[in-house]
Amino acid sequence: MKRTFQTLLCGIALTMPTLAAQAQDAATATAAAAAQAAIQKAAQRHVVVLATGGTIAGAGASAMNSASYTAAKVPVEQLLAGLPEVQEVARVTGEQVFQIASESFTNAELLTLAKRVSELAKQADVDGIVVTHGTDTMEETGFFLNLVVQTDKPIVLVGSMRPGTAISADGALNLLNAIGVAASGDAAGKGALVVMNDEIHTARDVAKLINIKTGAFVSQWGPLGMVVEGRNYWFRAPIKRHTTGSEFNIDEISELPAVEIAYSYGNVAPTVVEALGASGVKAIVHAGTGNGSVPNRIVPKLTELSEKGTIIVRSSRVPAGFVLRNAEQPDDKYDWVVAHDLNPQKARILAAVALTKTQDTKELQRIFWEY
Ligand code: ASP
Repeated sequence: MKRTFQTLLCGIALTMPTLAAQAQDAATATAAAAAQAAIQKAAQRHVVVLATGGTIAGAGASAMNSASYTAAKVPVEQLLAGLPEVQEVARVTGEQVFQIASESFTNAELLTLAKRVSELAKQADVDGIVVTHGTDTMEETGFFLNLVVQTDKPIVLVGSMRPGTAISADGALNLLNAIGVAASGDAAGKGALVVMNDEIHTARDVAKLINIKTGAFVSQWGPLGMVVEGRNYWFRAPIKRHTTGSEFNIDEISELPAVEIAYSYGNVAPTVVEALGASGVKAIVHAGTGNGSVPNRIVPKLTELSEKGTIIVRSSRVPAGFVLRNAEQPDDKYDWVVAHDLNPQKARILAAVALTKTQDTKELQRIFWEY
């Protein structure tokens, strides 16, 4: 009896792991089948890649050149042909919009690109849009698209820090990830995104903070998620107004007013502020020190300009944190606007977009709080 019981126990002990293993195998197979089904579904989605240039389309003289190279060389067809894996992720078509380094972007390029993104987003056969872009001003273009394109479809900006000719180039995986994010249903409604270095950022928050490393893009409030082996992992969603929640629409914008940035530092002369005022700009973004502080010899110049109708936006050159209204400077008294947590280059974009609708400083301040 005892022996039989022992044999039975032994049998159970041997059978249980087998059953557990079988259950685990079944669960793994189900998960793998679900993942495969999701990939196949995504692979049927149509993603348009709008190429604009930058290092992701760059080429260097040798594989050793990770930092010395010429940006904006490789056409979009070649970029996509070099990455056959994308066709497993989505049905991808490419379009060359520009072939430039992003530091040379002007408002004209912003308008052309945003209008094209808007047109494509309205097409029923387009599920997502990827914009390949130089990293230098990607945060500005991304924020602009976030503000003015009325769509829920994913808009994903991507670039690279190393040209495709370099050892350990980062462009291929960045592009594959960006196309995957654009093809995924779960990126819809999150506004314009920047996918770099396995991270998914909202274009509103992200900034290029390092100029020599592949992990160059940082959002001070953290990335929205990550892409690992083609799967998106989301951790948060944008809270500020964007795309379909925005009051701005690129289809109604034909030009952007002149907005320039005046940078502050110790011993700064009023020359730049005076020249900007004389040039007739509609707004000056003051990139102040600390909490958007303005040197005492610059304050009278800015108040004079603001009394004459130039909008003054007080921002900070410090890459993180946010400018507090009426701290450091009496913004109510001077009728200035504060840039909230936007860096000066993003404040320029929002000021230009907002000025297409209003010159009223209270309205402008509301816009700076909301977007
Ligand atoms: N200067 C280049 C550009 O912004 C840098 C890059 O793409 O990384 O076009």
